[in-house]
Amino acid sequence: MNIYGTQGKLIKGDVGESLPCPSCGNLSQRNFGVLRYFHLYGIPLFSVTKKVGIECMQCRWVLLDKQIPEETRQEIDTKIFGKKYLPPLWS
Ligand SMILES: [Zn+2]
Repeated sequence: MNIYGTQGKLIKGDVGESLPCPSCGNLSQRNFGVLRYFHLYGIPLFSVTKKVGIECMQCRWVLLDKQIPEETRQEIDTKIFGKKYLPPLWS
């Protein structure tokens, strides 16, 4: 591991029904978050980017970040990046 740098982390969310899949129309999707953070000696200091995504449970079609309607994106963001996932240094 480098002394400092960025690392990515995939956070799995819930399976739910948010919007119809653009590919197959299926309503069942899993949401997830991708977090990239800056670390020093492996200790996360602050997040660099946060992105949320939705994966269709049927055809695996993935919608990322800006491809998701604003309202749904906010909802997932709150769910995924709730405080329990963040180390104490982050606020
Ligand atoms: Zn689909």
